[in-house]
Amino acid sequence: MFRGLFRSERARREALTAGQVTPDPSRCVQCGICSFNCPIGIDVRRHAWLGQPVVNSRCLTCGECVARCPRGVLTFERTNLFAERKK
Ligand code: SF4
Ligand code: SF4
Repeated sequence: MFRGLFRSERARREALTAGQVTPDPSRCVQCGICSFNCPIGIDVRRHAWLGQPVVNSRCLTCGECVARCPRGVLTFERTNLFAERKK
C-alpha cells in the first residue's frame, strides 16, 4: 500500500518493524491530516508541532500518517530498540 515510500521491500519491512514516525517541524503547516487519518487516534500533529517522534506503544507503524502528509513532514526513522534488547 505504501510501497512508494521506501526504496526497497527490505527497507519497508525494517522501517515498519524498527522505525518510529519522526517529524520535520519546520515543514509542518499544522493541517491535522496526519492525526485525522491515524487509525488509533494518535495526535501526530502535536508531535509534529513539538518536533517529537511518535514514541507511543500503541503506534502500529502502519504508515498512514507518513503517506497522507501533504508536506512530506513525516518519515520513518530507524530506532535501535531491538539492538539494545540484544545486549
Ligand atoms: S499532515 Fe503533515 S503538515 Fe499536516 S499537521 Fe500532519 S505533519 Fe503537519
Ligand atoms: S504510523 Fe499509523 S498508528 Fe502510528 S501514528 Fe502514524 S497513522 Fe498512527
